[in-house]
Amino acid sequence: MTLFKNKYIRKLLDLYRDIWAINSAEALMGWDLDTYMPKSAHRYRGIALGRLSTLSQRLMLSEEFRKQYDKARREKNLTIEEKGVLRVLGRELHYYDSLPPNFLRELARTTTNARKSWLIAKKKKRYEKFLPSLKKIIELSRRKAELLGYKDKPYDALLDLYEEGLTTKRLEPLFRDIKHNLPRIVKKILVKRVFPMNHELESKKYNKEAMEKLSKELLKRIGYPFNRGRLDVSAHPFTIDISPNDVRITTWYPEKNFRESLLATIHEFGHALYELQISKSLSMTPIGIGVSLGIHESQSRFWENIVAKSKQFIDTNLSLFKKHLSILDQYDSFELYRYFNTVKPSLIRVKADEVTYNLHILIRFEIEKEMINKDIDPRELPVMWNEKMEKYLGITPKNDAEGILQDVHWSQGSIGYFPTYTIGTLLAAQIARKMDRQIKLYKRIEEKDYSSIRNWLRERIHRYGSIYTPERLIRIAIGQSLDPEVFMEHIRRKYLFE
Ligand code: MG
Repeated sequence: MTLFKNKYIRKLLDLYRDIWAINSAEALMGWDLDTYMPKSAHRYRGIALGRLSTLSQRLMLSEEFRKQYDKARREKNLTIEEKGVLRVLGRELHYYDSLPPNFLRELARTTTNARKSWLIAKKKKRYEKFLPSLKKIIELSRRKAELLGYKDKPYDALLDLYEEGLTTKRLEPLFRDIKHNLPRIVKKILVKRVFPMNHELESKKYNKEAMEKLSKELLKRIGYPFNRGRLDVSAHPFTIDISPNDVRITTWYPEKNFRESLLATIHEFGHALYELQISKSLSMTPIGIGVSLGIHESQSRFWENIVAKSKQFIDTNLSLFKKHLSILDQYDSFELYRYFNTVKPSLIRVKADEVTYNLHILIRFEIEKEMINKDIDPRELPVMWNEKMEKYLGITPKNDAEGILQDVHWSQGSIGYFPTYTIGTLLAAQIARKMDRQIKLYKRIEEKDYSSIRNWLRERIHRYGSIYTPERLIRIAIGQSLDPEVFMEHIRRKYLFE
């Protein structure tokens, strides 16, 4: 802890280590819950996890912790790392200071019920079944925004929970660009037909064991350290940070369409690499983790969209794919490239391709803004949803299950979360451009020189953990702020050869 010299900060970090240890235990138990836990263990695991989370909250809100925090805040001449610690802890303390325990209990109760009614509504394909819960969640979210406070718009208070400093005003020009340019680009790609809407490999079954071998070999090749992590299977792929030397990923093996599995594995690798490359001097402190959801998603999407879907990556890994997957016998590299990069306006966000994905987020952003900043009647939301789908993607859902009910987020009370996905996609394209200018990214991929890519990411982004705010970190990494034009350029060049 040589970066931390101030005595109050050191005391604070010492107290924090108990919280870190509980978080680490929760992470490991959460990983187990989603992978190998015996089926009947749910109830008691739930209780144990709930208790641990209350315990870590109690430690943070304890008098002793608060006293050290207040003392440290009065100190002058703190290092940037020390300031970072106070910034991150300050955000957490502000959350609990602003939201009274009975409000948090009401929110927890509401989301537990909402989750159930959302599942029923989705199964029955009927929005009305979810409506009372959603009404309540919107109401509580508005109250939450008032309690947390904001400068301009209530929605900003919610955005800031997922992406520090993010505001409606900051997002509006980004989405305006997406709204005005992306639908047109999609149409042009569809007319051009170099990249198909569908590909026959999507329906081809593969051997799961072979796929697992391929995933592990590929992960080793791109630099996932198996002595500091694992690859397992879960219902939905995820990454979990248990300690600086234990960042695990999971993937899935749906029975056909092998790119779904492969790209999910590489996506999670991107998340894991971020955590694994944070400077060890920040370990076990509040700033020893990735700074925000948006930055995290930029890392996963960089590896998934920019690296793994590139012509160079597919060319140079073709023999590895073929070694494990016999279904690829008659396919050449260009055909595989087309398969990895199909473009198709579709109903479901999580199945969307790199090009159309942001249109799905645009719809959610516009609706959330109305929900929180204005007084819209939630009964009108499905009609609004379907109109926007038609307008931006040219398709209309047949029912609410494949429309407004498709995502779990709102039922969990996560309003303001979706835009972080767009930040990730836009930023990934900007990182790629910067890296290409500095170290010839695509040449590095062509030479299977992944370590140069990892080093660039470590030096420019990863090592800093949460020392800086996301906005500041982006500036440090690429010397500019978020710019949707760079993403548009990437799409035009790749799909339209412009
Ligand atoms: Mg992700």
